[in-house]
Amino acid sequence: MVRDNAAPDPSTHDRYRAVTRTNIDRCSQWQRLDPELREAVMTVSAVLPFRTNAYVMDELIDWDRVPDDPMFRLTFPMAAMLEEHDYQRVRDLIRAGAEKGEIESAANTIRAKLNPHPAGQMSHNVPHVDGEPIPGMQHKYRETVLFFPSHGQTCHAYCTFCFRWAQFIGDDDLKFANKEAGQLRRYLEQHPEVTDVLFTGGDPMIMKAKVFETYIDEVLRVESVRTVRIGTKSVAYWPQRFVTDADARDMLRIFERVTESGKHLALMGHYNHAVELSTEISREAVRRIRATGANIRMQSPLIRHINDSADAWADLWVTGTQLGCVPYYMFVERDTGAKSYFELPLAECWEIFQAAYQRLPGTARTVRGPSMSCFPGKCHVLGVSEVAGEKAFVLEFLQARDPSLVRRPFFAKFDPTASWYDELEPLSASDEPFFIRPEVPTTPLTVRDGHDLVAN
Ligand SMILES: *Cc1c(COP(=O)(O)O)cnc(C)c1O
Ligand code: SF4
Repeated sequence: MVRDNAAPDPSTHDRYRAVTRTNIDRCSQWQRLDPELREAVMTVSAVLPFRTNAYVMDELIDWDRVPDDPMFRLTFPMAAMLEEHDYQRVRDLIRAGAEKGEIESAANTIRAKLNPHPAGQMSHNVPHVDGEPIPGMQHKYRETVLFFPSHGQTCHAYCTFCFRWAQFIGDDDLKFANKEAGQLRRYLEQHPEVTDVLFTGGDPMIMKAKVFETYIDEVLRVESVRTVRIGTKSVAYWPQRFVTDADARDMLRIFERVTESGKHLALMGHYNHAVELSTEISREAVRRIRATGANIRMQSPLIRHINDSADAWADLWVTGTQLGCVPYYMFVERDTGAKSYFELPLAECWEIFQAAYQRLPGTARTVRGPSMSCFPGKCHVLGVSEVAGEKAFVLEFLQARDPSLVRRPFFAKFDPTASWYDELEPLSASDEPFFIRPEVPTTPLTVRDGHDLVAN
């Protein structure tokens, strides 16, 4: 049963309050920032999407540690995210009191450079049902379908490493949800090999329970679906979703309906840092979700300035495991706009993973990583080793379009600066089958799900 008794935080964060470029100057913390930092936030947020909320501001950011605080870095745009001359151009326009239109047109030019794939159109993996493409769906790995409900395309706060401004559109048209949900069901019925449906976004938990239920109702009708997954950052950015929101109980009741139907409900919690699990309300959210029979799995990209240390990861996984969450994936930050600001070389990612993993009890060693979601599949960096006297990356696919490639170790030439799969080269001829490039240039690449940073 859904528990009702535990007292929520005595804080003032029962009602969601968005903090954006237009109202941040009314937050008490704003005056604590250096004028230079304030100018940077105003400048960069004219180009990149910026949105946080009062809970993140008051409970998760440690203002004594700003600007180095990880939650501040996770949500606040910084000058270094733009090229210096781009930054100066926008800053100078703002300083000169330029008109909105002029700033916007400069911003558009910069955006076009930052994100070569703005609209999120996908030409790979787009499934069809009854001859009609379903653009809000992606079926890349046999067992699992990703579904992006059109009402779930925004988030309770925006991560600075996530570049999906083109997708952040809200839409609460229930009629459309019904049509989409029906298409999803028909697709699943025609593809009994799909056991897992993963709702993602944006954040599907941004939806009202009533809207979310239209999708769940359809999925529950499909017998071949065994696991319903929900990819969400709400557990970190707005745990009130499961505790104090007006329809929190309704949402939890939907979770119960899934588990009572005999299916597994896996909440893929996007936790980037242990501080997100430090508040009483975030822990209460975990308790309530688990009390529905759902499991929570934890996944996150490794991001410079935010969680680029073994301590941060060990702390996250140990804390999560204690609360009953299951460490699942560490992703490599992919090729997004401010790549140079956030990325780490693969060799360093592996060192961080390994150092953190060594400290874990076996119960937390359920995690796999660092993993790159690239064109052929999820490429796991197992480590750095020497093969016949040559330094090499040892790799494997955890998931692949071609399932026969999964879990077969292969090698790439060691490169201390490589930060993504397509910068790697086969070590020898026998490794070549594992280096698969898309036949068309990477226009289909899209970053709709920032948590996994899905590339097609
Ligand atoms: C990561 C991912 C999935 C889910 O993979 P699991 O290993 O089952 O968690 C499904 N589809 C795509 C496109 C993905 O990138
Ligand atoms: S990473 Fe996830 S929570 Fe963050 S902005 Fe992107 S989709 Fe939203």
